[in-house]
Amino acid sequence: MIQHITVIGSGTMGNGIAHTFAQYGFHVSLVDLHEKALSNALTTIEKNLDRQIQKSILIAEEKTAILSRIKTFTRLEEAVVHTHFVIEAATEQTPIKLDLFQTLDQLCPPETILASNTSSISITKLAAVTNRPDKVIGMHFMNPVPVMKLVEVIRGYASSDEVTDTVMALARQLEKIPVAVQDYPGFIANRILMPMINEAIYSLYEGVAGIHEIDTVMKLGMSHPMGPLQLADFIGLDVCLAILKVLQEGFGNPKYAPCPLLVNMVAAKQLGIKTEIGFYDYRKDPKDLIVAPRFTT
Ligand code: NAD
Repeated sequence: MIQHITVIGSGTMGNGIAHTFAQYGFHVSLVDLHEKALSNALTTIEKNLDRQIQKSILIAEEKTAILSRIKTFTRLEEAVVHTHFVIEAATEQTPIKLDLFQTLDQLCPPETILASNTSSISITKLAAVTNRPDKVIGMHFMNPVPVMKLVEVIRGYASSDEVTDTVMALARQLEKIPVAVQDYPGFIANRILMPMINEAIYSLYEGVAGIHEIDTVMKLGMSHPMGPLQLADFIGLDVCLAILKVLQEGFGNPKYAPCPLLVNMVAAKQLGIKTEIGFYDYRKDPKDLIVAPRFTT
């Protein structure tokens, strides 16, 4: 029975995943390379728990218990000794993840399931560097994790039925709705979402319309809760670029080529909310959607 889980990477997704598992009674080891990333994650989790209390999703007494179930580590070998389930949510770069899966395979008990929260990297490739490819699987949460119901469960070429069933059940334990998909570039969510975001950026780049206009068309016209440019800021422009490259390379189809404007913004480290500036400027009030100075004329 899964009781102890390890989350690797305490950034945007890792803190949400740790929060959610701890909320549902699991003991969580949260690992990052940097102490600062871990302390930021704990601050974010605390803030988000307070928000859940304000919205009566949780009662105040639960907060201390949830926080007490999360332990932080900078050394992977200390975090995973007794773990039943690992979910990797480190930076979206293939070499980082390949290295992590190889190391995890050596460090974790043989029955431990190794899952990745990757948005687009091949689960089959990650499984192939381990000696337990049947126990490697994708568990793709949506952002913000404590709020979003969907979990895409990605079956690698060798993922077993038993492991797939375990991960589907685990998602349901977190009151999420799991959907099983096969392992092809971008899976379902990002194969459809990223071309839409890229097309929105191309529309801006080609001067078809401004940032507010593009987002307003998609919000009001398609009933999307957020426009594609705002959503790109929310996801992180570096993450969007990395996923588009995986789609472009994986399918060998130029239709996925990232817009040069996206490439430039990532090079300039204007990555969206995480750097406080992307298509919008979040340096004042993050709720005020002010177009970033670069785009105002
Ligand atoms: P992020 O950049 O916010 O955080 C990544 C964290 O991983 C950083 O704190 C970094 O220090 C840490 N890290 C890097 N290498 C590490 C290692 N070897 N060991 C331990 N920690 C390490 O990234 P994110 O947005 O949280 O994305 C994490 C994963 O989740 C990626 O695979 C991404 O594709 C996926 N994802 C992201 C979103 C999103 O909306 N941002 C949504 C779904 C899935």
